[in-house]
Amino acid sequence: MVKDVLVVGGGIGGMSAALAMARNGVTVTLIDSDPNWRVYGAGITITGMSLRAFDQLGVLDQIRERGFVHTGMRPMRFDGERIPGPPPAPPGAPPIMCGGGIMRPVLHDILSTEVRAAGIEVRLGVTVDHLTQDDNGVDVVLTDGSTARYDLVVGADGIYSKMREMIFPDAPRPQFTDQGCWRIVAERPPEVDRAEIYFGGPLKVGMSPISQSHMYVFLLEHVPGNPWFAPETHVEHLARLMAPFGGNITAVRENLGEHSQIVYRPLEWLLLPDPWYSGRVVLIGDAAHATTPHMASGAGVAVEDGLVLAEELARTDDVAQALRGFMDRRFERAKLVVETSVQQGRNEIDGTERQQQTNILAVASKQLAAAF
Ligand SMILES: Cc1cc2nc3c(=O)[nH]c(=O)nc-3n(C[C@H](O)[C@H](O)[C@H](O)COP(=O)(O)OP(=O)(O)OC[C@H]3O[C@@H](n4cnc5c(N)ncnc54)[C@H](O)[C@@H]3O)c2cc1C
Repeated sequence: MVKDVLVVGGGIGGMSAALAMARNGVTVTLIDSDPNWRVYGAGITITGMSLRAFDQLGVLDQIRERGFVHTGMRPMRFDGERIPGPPPAPPGAPPIMCGGGIMRPVLHDILSTEVRAAGIEVRLGVTVDHLTQDDNGVDVVLTDGSTARYDLVVGADGIYSKMREMIFPDAPRPQFTDQGCWRIVAERPPEVDRAEIYFGGPLKVGMSPISQSHMYVFLLEHVPGNPWFAPETHVEHLARLMAPFGGNITAVRENLGEHSQIVYRPLEWLLLPDPWYSGRVVLIGDAAHATTPHMASGAGVAVEDGLVLAEELARTDDVAQALRGFMDRRFERAKLVVETSVQQGRNEIDGTERQQQTNILAVASKQLAAAF
């Protein structure tokens, strides 16, 4: 029986797993190497599958209140003309038919407040120095010198996971995709009441409401060689990238300036082969399957990982059986998200026709809408 669990990494995946297990009566300790447990200030898109997972975790109402939930994506031509797309979700539609967005620090605040309210011990500024395991448990030595024995250790320490290196030293490394993602927080005009994706331009651009007052705009740029962009060049660079776009992009471009909240990230991916566990140490979230944002589903799959892990552990006293059950429910979904997202990025670079791009996303989204 799994009674004591150490979760390494307090991001979206680690906090979701910790909450789901704690609600099943498991004693959870959560550690994060960041002494301040910070999250950078960018927006995040929440797709229907992610909303469904957050609903199951019990935080959907808070996301509605402090973020934004809307009736789905609206496709646009790059010059600002609306193009036919899926109809909006009807009033009262279930989360899976909706979409949304939120600032990452707000989501972090919601989840971390829930974690503390659930009585989960949170220790910051420490990580695992080393661990040894036997058939019945895992002995962990933390970087502050403290030691403890756990029934299970969950590695949720993100794309550059040290836990992954520890248990799978030969695991694949993250791969750069030749694209970078720019994100800008901007005031939300009332007409941006759904996510907008602009097709047909020289690069993929979109916007997503994240609160009653704000939205974020993203641009996916082809950046072979993975160049570094000095912060003082960001505004000018973005103004140039946005110049061919019309619609609601125009005002965002015109309002760019020193005050603009801009975040740039090169895009990388990683898919660890099955299994993501060794003995009593299991990896979840980006530590096992880091995706590019083309399906905006990385957070959703990380939350699902946490929910499914807790369910499988509650089903049986046999840890090996629970972890096998976890893999059987997780691998193909995570693979679908990672592979479709990476393919979509490649299609954008190659200038694949819009209809083909939207069809690929529609097929994958339909599969993800199935129960997990
Ligand atoms: C540019 C970009 C845009 C994205 N946009 C979206 C989007 O719109 N929608 C979406 O759903 N997904 C999006 N994603 C993906 C999403 O951000 C990730 O899939 C998600 O954050 C994964 O959560 P995680 O908890 O696994 O990892 P993380 O969020 O990376 O959290 C890892 C945690 O572990 C901690 N940590 C790191 N190393 C250690 C260590 N050694 N010991 C202890 N703690 C450690 C970190 O401090 C952090 O708190 C995007 C990704 C990128 C790169």
